[in-house]
Amino acid sequence: MKIMKFGGTSVGKPERMHQVAQLITKTDESKIVVLSALSGTTNSLVGISDLLAANDKQGAKAAIDKLEAHYRDFVLLLSNTEDGRKKANAIVSEHFEFLNIILRISFSEALNKDILAQGELLSTKLFCVFLEEQSIAHVFLPALDFMTIDANGEPQLADIKEKLTDILKSFEGTKLFITQGYICRNAKGEVDNLKRGGSDYTASLVAAAIQATVCEIWTDIDGMHNNDPRVVDKTLPIKQISFDEAAELAYFGAKILHPTCIWPAQQTNVPVKLLNTMQPEAEGTVITEEAGSIGVKAVAAKDGIIAIRIKSSRMLLAYGFLRKIFEVFEKYRTSIDVVTTSEVAVSVTIDTDTFLKEIVEELEQFGSVEVDNNQTIISVVGNEIAKTDHVLQQFFTAIADVPVRMVSYGGSHHNITILVPSDYKIKTLQLLNKGLFGL
Ligand code: ADP
Ligand code: ASP
Ligand code: MG
Repeated sequence: MKIMKFGGTSVGKPERMHQVAQLITKTDESKIVVLSALSGTTNSLVGISDLLAANDKQGAKAAIDKLEAHYRDFVLLLSNTEDGRKKANAIVSEHFEFLNIILRISFSEALNKDILAQGELLSTKLFCVFLEEQSIAHVFLPALDFMTIDANGEPQLADIKEKLTDILKSFEGTKLFITQGYICRNAKGEVDNLKRGGSDYTASLVAAAIQATVCEIWTDIDGMHNNDPRVVDKTLPIKQISFDEAAELAYFGAKILHPTCIWPAQQTNVPVKLLNTMQPEAEGTVITEEAGSIGVKAVAAKDGIIAIRIKSSRMLLAYGFLRKIFEVFEKYRTSIDVVTTSEVAVSVTIDTDTFLKEIVEELEQFGSVEVDNNQTIISVVGNEIAKTDHVLQQFFTAIADVPVRMVSYGGSHHNITILVPSDYKIKTLQLLNKGLFGL
């Protein structure tokens, strides 16, 4: 059994949904299809939630109506029959009635999660109406019946496996299942989600749970590229990459994959393929345990980083200093991405300011603390980078004019990481594209 996950753009237009139906019926292998919300929907739902949180009911109502109009238009072109359109419109009515009811209740975090779930609920149900209309046999699997996260927001793979295996057993002989990406239930049993871009994570978790033959992530580009195609002109797809390399790239900003979606597939050794819905014949990227080749593979950037420097001559050579500093971050459940040290100072980066004030206050007992906001992590990823001739020289020559705030190298065999002010992100990515890939 294989997994095929289709992202927002892949289902964002009626004709794309038609194409997805073709792609999933091309082979006879049984499969679980994971769908995202139509492109733009989750952003709109976030907007609606924000308006409600700010008690702007009028604004929220206008945004709900606008989104509903989009779905009414979508339905017109999705279905070819009167009956299909009727069923699809009934689904749209059901979900928009829910959003309109929410306007009358007081806003809460649980309600916010319910609002965000509407996108995937709508896309999967509408897709199933189209499949039914086309007489394509399938079973609809509600993700809320098996996708679970614990009190820390971490997916519970063992629990997902148990639940999903039981459900699949009751549909023996079924070849095609449709389910939602992104949405899940939390430890309290409420509707929750796997964070933005989380449908990839669903796909990888489901792949791991059923030990799938392959986890295919279908998107709007022909695989993982060597650099961010949104800001760099000439980029090329990578044919093969290892789980470790892909995880590093995803975590450090390659938007094509959810930051933590690799581990379930890696743990169960299910190959992941990145493929293009708009160009299905393209080779795409294969992610397995094997790295393929040695050398630099790609560059990625992660914005919204905060750098904190703790300087303390008193602590010079004192053992236990780093532990005390790390304990402060642990206390506030804030993970550190990059660390650099000198004899008298330590610099670390974090990607959230939720507890910044508290963290800084506690760190001040160890020395002077400086905070730099608006930083970007740039990560160069590749297999056995250290064994590649002149790579550091090439790297630093390429970015000679960039004011680098931190450098981290040697933590793993496949990564060089620097921190630069965010204003320099695009320039740095472009310079590295020339310097490292000659593009
Ligand atoms: P989906 O909606 O299918 O999940 P996403 O928008 O989340 O798709 O991810 C695909 C997008 O990721 C591409 O359109 C591309 O602009 C962006 N992207 C960023 N970095 C990379 C990269 N290194 N390789 C490929 N795509 C990338
Ligand atoms: N619809 C969700 C989002 O836009 C999940 C996803 O598309 O992966 O973040
Ligand atoms: Mg995505």
